[in-house]
Amino acid sequence: MTNASPSTRTAPSAAIIGGGPAGLMAAEVLRAWGVEVDVYDAMASVGRKFLLAGKGGLNLTHSEGFEPFVGRFAERSAQLEPLLRGFDGPMLREWAEGLGISTFVGTSGRVFPTDLKAAPLLRAWLHRLRESGVRFHMRHRWLGWDEAGALRFAGPEGEITLQPDATLLALGGASWPQLGSNGAWVELLQSRGVDIAPLRAANCGFDVASGWTPHFAERFAGQPVKPVAIHFEGQGGRRFDRKGEFVATAGGIEGSLVYAASALIREEIAEFGSATIHLDLLPDRDAAFVAAEVARPRGPRSLSTHLKSRLGLEGLKAGLLHELLSKADYNDPARLAAAIKRLPLTLVKARPVAEAISTAGGVRFEALDDRLMLKAMPGVFCAGEMLDWEAPTGGYLLTASMASGRAAGAGAAAYLRG
Ligand SMILES: Cc1cc2nc3c(=O)[nH]c(=O)nc-3n(C[C@H](O)[C@H](O)[C@H](O)COP(=O)(O)OP(=O)(O)OC[C@H]3O[C@@H](n4cnc5c(N)ncnc54)[C@H](O)[C@@H]3O)c2cc1C
Repeated sequence: MTNASPSTRTAPSAAIIGGGPAGLMAAEVLRAWGVEVDVYDAMASVGRKFLLAGKGGLNLTHSEGFEPFVGRFAERSAQLEPLLRGFDGPMLREWAEGLGISTFVGTSGRVFPTDLKAAPLLRAWLHRLRESGVRFHMRHRWLGWDEAGALRFAGPEGEITLQPDATLLALGGASWPQLGSNGAWVELLQSRGVDIAPLRAANCGFDVASGWTPHFAERFAGQPVKPVAIHFEGQGGRRFDRKGEFVATAGGIEGSLVYAASALIREEIAEFGSATIHLDLLPDRDAAFVAAEVARPRGPRSLSTHLKSRLGLEGLKAGLLHELLSKADYNDPARLAAAIKRLPLTLVKARPVAEAISTAGGVRFEALDDRLMLKAMPGVFCAGEMLDWEAPTGGYLLTASMASGRAAGAGAAAYLRG
C-alpha cells in the first residue's frame, strides 16, 4: 500500500485507525473538510460490533430530553455534554434519515431503525463514505509507533509504516475482542505517557457468592425472570431501585436490569469485596398482600403448589427461593413472605470485560485537549468507547461513540488547517 507523502499532495492526510461507528463518523467529518482519509482496521471488514449490536434490535439512541440524556454519563456528563451538543439523539436520527434509514421510538423511549437492523445502515454509510473518497484498508492491525514516530501496521503483506499529517484512534474498548477491539492499545498509549483509567467491564453480569448449586445452574441457567425488581443500597451510599428483567447464568445473573445496576455494583465490589442486592420477586404486589397469601391455609397442598397457585411463583422465581433461603426460613410463612419481597443475593465478581456489552475506563479526558487531541502527542486524536466514559444501554453508547467521533474528526480537521 502506498501513501502519498505530504510534499506531493495538496490536501492534508489523516489516518483513522478503527472502523467502528466512532472512526467512521470521524472519517465522514474529515472528508467533508477535504482531508485525504484512510481508514485502517484489524478485521476483514469494519463495524463488526455495530453489526452485532443490530442482532437484538439496533438501539441507535434515546428519545429523552438533552439534560437527562447527558446525565446518563454520570461523572463524565460534563465532558460528554459539549460532544453531545454537536451530535445528540435528534441529530443522530436526522443523520440516519439522510442515509435513507428511518427510525422509530419504542415504548421505552429507545430509538431503533424501522427494520431494527444494523446492516442496511452500515451498508448505506460505507457506500457514501467510499463515494466521498474515503479509502479503507482492512486486515491492518496497528502496532504503535516506530522510533521515527511513524505508525506501524501488520498488514496482509507484512509490516508497513506511514506518516499521515494527523492520526485518529478509534480503537473501541475491550469487550467482545473477537470482533476486533481488544484493548491492546492501552500499553501502546501508556508507553507514550498517556494517562489511561483501567479498562473495566460495563453493562456486565456478575457471579453470585459461592456460585449456584449444580442443581440450580443445570435447571435455570439461561432462563429469564420477569417482572422482578432490584433494590440496592450499598455501603458506600450507592442506590438503585428498578423493575425489569434479568437472566440466570451458570454462576450468577446478567441481562438488562443487571446491566442498568452494573456500574454501581461493580464499584461496590471494588470497594468492599461484595455487593448485596435485594430481589423483589413480586414487584407488582405489596408486602401485606403477599404475606396474607402465603399465610392462607393450604390444606394438603405442598408449599410450592400453594405459592404457584396463590402468587404465580414458579420456575426461576420459585427456584431462587429454594436456592437462597434456608429450610427453616422457607417453611416460616412470615419469613418466606418477607423474602419474596426482599430476597438478598450477594454478588462477588463482575464477569470479565471480554463478555461485557461495553467497557468503562480508557483515555482520560484530562489527557486530551478540547479537540480530543492527546496532550502528550500533538496530531493524535482519540474517539469512541476507548475514551474514559461509560453509560447504560439504551442507545447512549452508540450516540456517544458517534458524537466523539465527530468531535475528534472536527478537531483533527481544525488542527490540519492550522
Ligand atoms: C452485544 C452488544 C450489543 C450492543 N448493542 C448496542 C446497542 O443496541 N446500542 C448501543 O448504543 N450500543 C450497543 N453496543 C455498544 C456499541 O456497539 C459500542 O459502544 C460501539 O460499537 C463503540 O464504537 P467504537 O467505534 O468506539 O468502537 P468499536 O465499534 O469497538 O470499533 C473499534 C474498531 O477498532 C478496530 N481496532 C481495534 N484495535 C485495533 C488495532 N490495533 N488495529 C486496527 N484496528 C483496531 C476494531 O477492529 C474495530 O473495528 C453493543 C455492544 C455489544 C457487544
